[in-house]
Amino acid sequence: MTARIYAGDKPVAETAFKVNKSDLVPSWKAAKAKLRLTTAYRGVFNHRPKPKSCQKYIVLHDTEGDGDASTVVSWWVTSGQRVAAHFIVNKDGSIVQCVPLDRIAHHAGFGDTGHNRKYGVTDESRDDKKGTASIGPWAADYGMNSYSIGIEMVHVGGSGYYPAAQLKALDNLIAYIDAYYGRKCRIIDHKAWRSGNSDTSPEFAGYLRNYQKYRKHAA
Ligand SMILES: [Zn+2]
Repeated sequence: MTARIYAGDKPVAETAFKVNKSDLVPSWKAAKAKLRLTTAYRGVFNHRPKPKSCQKYIVLHDTEGDGDASTVVSWWVTSGQRVAAHFIVNKDGSIVQCVPLDRIAHHAGFGDTGHNRKYGVTDESRDDKKGTASIGPWAADYGMNSYSIGIEMVHVGGSGYYPAAQLKALDNLIAYIDAYYGRKCRIIDHKAWRSGNSDTSPEFAGYLRNYQKYRKHAA
C-alpha cells in the first residue's frame, strides 16, 4: 500500500508499506471485543458440531426467571435435561456464553409438526438429542437446534420493559454473530418455532420487529 501526504492539493511525500494479513483484525474479533462476555461452557450443554454452513437462524428467548445468568446456568445443569442456549444476556448488559457458536445447543426444542419443512431445517441427524423427550404428536419436529444460535434474555414476561443496557448488549451480540458468519441469519423468537410458547414476551414485540428489520432494537 502507499500513503501520500498532501499540503492542500499538492502531494509532498509518499511512502510505501506492506500490510501482512496476520496484522489485520477480522471484523468479528472487533465486534466480539465490544461485548462484556464471559464463558460458562459445560459438557452437558454441547450436542455435537454445527458447521458454519448449517447456521440459519438466531432464536431469541426470555429466561422467564429473575435470576441472572449464573443462576440460569446452575438451573440448567441440575435439571438434567441438557438444555442450554448459546448466550444469556443479563439485565446489566453482561453476557455469558454457554455453548460455542459451532456446536448445537438444545434451546429451541420441539417445534410444531411441519415446522422442520416450513423453516428449512429438516436434517436432525447431526444432533445427539441427548436429554430430549417427546411432548406430543402436535410438536414432533426437532430441526431448529441444528441450524440456530439461541439467545436468552433475563426477563419475566409481563414484568416491564427491557433495560437499555440489556438491549444494547443484544444489539452488539447480534452484530458479532453477523460478523462471525459473514451473513445475516434470520431472527425469530421461540414462540414462532413452537406455538403456545410464551417467549419472547409481548413487551418485546416492537423490539423483535426492529431486530428483524434493522438488526438492533431501535431503528
Ligand atoms: Zn425459549
